[in-house]
Amino acid sequence: MIIDAELCIGCAACIVYCPVEAISIDGEQAAVNADLCTECNNCIRGGVCPVDAMVQNELEWPRSIRNIFSDPISVCKETGVSGRGTEESKTNEVTNRFKRGEVGFAVDVGRPNVGGVKLKQVDQISTALAVLDLTFDPANPLTYLMEDRRTGKLKAEVLEETVVSAIIEFRVPLERCAEVVRALEDIGQRVDTVFSVGVISRVEDDWSIPARDAIEAEGYRFMPNGKTTLDLGRAAKQC
Ligand code: SF4
Ligand code: SF4
Repeated sequence: MIIDAELCIGCAACIVYCPVEAISIDGEQAAVNADLCTECNNCIRGGVCPVDAMVQNELEWPRSIRNIFSDPISVCKETGVSGRGTEESKTNEVTNRFKRGEVGFAVDVGRPNVGGVKLKQVDQISTALAVLDLTFDPANPLTYLMEDRRTGKLKAEVLEETVVSAIIEFRVPLERCAEVVRALEDIGQRVDTVFSVGVISRVEDDWSIPARDAIEAEGYRFMPNGKTTLDLGRAAKQC
């Protein structure tokens, strides 16, 4: 995002719309810190500029990555899905992405209030996870940025790009759930960013949740979060 210096009147109305504090007043006008800016377009969508001085310039690779991961209405051309993750994992009864005996993980790295995250910080986590011999979700945009899905290593040219956040998604057999939780605890001690972890598990016919015991055994409070989808007719894929 750039600010047209010929139009900006320095009113500062746009500053609070930037989730990563990339806009500041420099003298009489606003300026955007290009390193901090995630190209999320929040400032433009806010519609606050009285003189339309904010401009979304043409983004070339690899800077275009910032917009794909940070602007919720940008569509990733490889996955066909908008946003930084895959399609809704909470509606597994329809998508059947996670099979019986599997547990999915969604590691959400970075947050606006810590200035987003550089992809080299995400790379630290994905490469540390890859040693567990897990399967990165092929429908996730971050997986497309990996030069090697076995090592979790991201392409060198994207490492300095900053995004609001990125989600590492993968699945493991149920019996390895606790091992992954312990690995994430260890990784959390070594990285200089923040992440939250979602665990995706099927609900069985008797209402039991297979991953529950493994999560609670590691000392975490189990907090189910799901959606009930009504009137969808039938599952898109058979179990
Ligand atoms: S595009 Fe997003 S990150 Fe960049 S200046 Fe605007 S609000 Fe801030
Ligand atoms: S809202 Fe527009 S005119 Fe006001 S400081 Fe921001 S870019 Fe400049």
